[in-house]
Amino acid sequence: MKGWDYSPALESTSHVEIKKRYELYINGEWVKPASKKYFKTINPANEEVLAEVAHANEKDVDKAVKAARKAYDEVWSKISPAERAKYIFRIARLMQERSREFAVVESLDAGKTIRESRDVDVPLACNHFFYHAGWADKLEFAFPNRKIESIGVAGQIIPWNFPLLMAAWKIAPALATGNTVVLKPAETTPLTALKLAEIIHDSGLPPGVVNIVTGYGDTGAAIVNHKDVDKIAFTGSTGVGKIIQKAIAGTNKKATLELGGKSANIIMDDAPIDQAVEGVINGIFFNQGHVCCAGSRLFIQEGVVDTVIEKLKHRMKSLIVGNPLDKNTDIGAINSKEQLDIINGYLKIGEKEGAEMYQSPCDLPSSGYYCPPTLVMNLAQSSRLVQEEIFGPVLAIQTFRTIDEVIQKANNTPYGLAAGVWTDKGSRIFNLTTKLRAGVIWANTYNKFDPTSPFGGYKESGFGREGGLHGLEGYLKMN
Ligand code: ADP
Repeated sequence: MKGWDYSPALESTSHVEIKKRYELYINGEWVKPASKKYFKTINPANEEVLAEVAHANEKDVDKAVKAARKAYDEVWSKISPAERAKYIFRIARLMQERSREFAVVESLDAGKTIRESRDVDVPLACNHFFYHAGWADKLEFAFPNRKIESIGVAGQIIPWNFPLLMAAWKIAPALATGNTVVLKPAETTPLTALKLAEIIHDSGLPPGVVNIVTGYGDTGAAIVNHKDVDKIAFTGSTGVGKIIQKAIAGTNKKATLELGGKSANIIMDDAPIDQAVEGVINGIFFNQGHVCCAGSRLFIQEGVVDTVIEKLKHRMKSLIVGNPLDKNTDIGAINSKEQLDIINGYLKIGEKEGAEMYQSPCDLPSSGYYCPPTLVMNLAQSSRLVQEEIFGPVLAIQTFRTIDEVIQKANNTPYGLAAGVWTDKGSRIFNLTTKLRAGVIWANTYNKFDPTSPFGGYKESGFGREGGLHGLEGYLKMN
């Protein structure tokens, strides 16, 4: 069976303005980079250039940090928490008003489907600002009997998988707790952070409270190494997380790191299978597998292996891979050529290892970076496809007999970001959730996010939490 044929349902781009060139947003102004350098950001769905973006160097970062420090000392640490809340609410509302535009720009720059950017990324980003605006003047109730203080200047570095949402995760709690910000979006997806800078400007936020500097890893490193930055909040690869930890060792900088994952989705033999299959599909193919907590390892209990695999393949046949702006598309473009090469490299390793592979028989567009959803089976526990984060629509399937066995196998990874458990029995859920070493564990669902729930990892998936009360702690000094 192939999926239904749908007529194209393209989201309009006519209401979206993308400038030819973006400068750095420092101290409430758009300034040219001291580096005099710009880089291109492209649409991974068709390889067309969307805009040129400034590449900040150390001097530019220094300017941004100085602006953030001045804003902290002279304004942001002095105004009342209720005033802070007003600005954050205003940012949330302005973002909501321009949500269609944000969704389209996110899909153009990141390759993610319009359905996701419209229904997941943008509403969640707005909700993070709304949620944190509510906390700004209630922090003393959040942490009763503790003396709390803001930290100062937060340097924030984010990846390309949820560009706007990650910016919201970082900026909203920092502002609510009274800190100022220098944020760097990822080099392949800078546009929605720059649009956010426009909104921040329109909100009347005092100059220097939020500064957005664009660039590559060197720009990120300049933020990490700047002497006057008090806290680093980073989301990205475990490799870069380790570099950052080394760089700040022995300094006074606080840090929260949200790093990679190789999360286990576990289907027990008593699970509601159709629901579980849909959850597994959502867990790994959602956002092209570009999700740090993607359910990239599937464990199926032996009695239901054949049924689950058959249903998975059946469902995969109806997934539509293609233009991210088409509302029918389930799986959009891989974020960059580099990432597509990484994913294809892993598929080659799987072939060499003699893994059994299944790819859905879908048509791929002739230009742009695409990868069909893929299952890999018959893998050894030591296989790199089981151990390493692929960050693409590739699901490694393993089987198990007993609960003890699956706990042991699921925990046998350097990571510990998330896990999913599918079963009819509450007692099994409680048993597994206490024994799986992962920061977030979903039961009979997957990839559910909410600003009120803390998110973060165990082991090499990082430390510190974002969201909820726990997320506020990362931006406060507490006595
Ligand atoms: P991913 O694999 O998700 O691209 P990276 O860790 O490479 O993750 O990138 C995440 C963010 O970290 C990006 O904004 C990137 O520019 C930045 N970055 C890369 N190298 C460094 C570094 N050495 N120091 C600080 N930031 C860096």
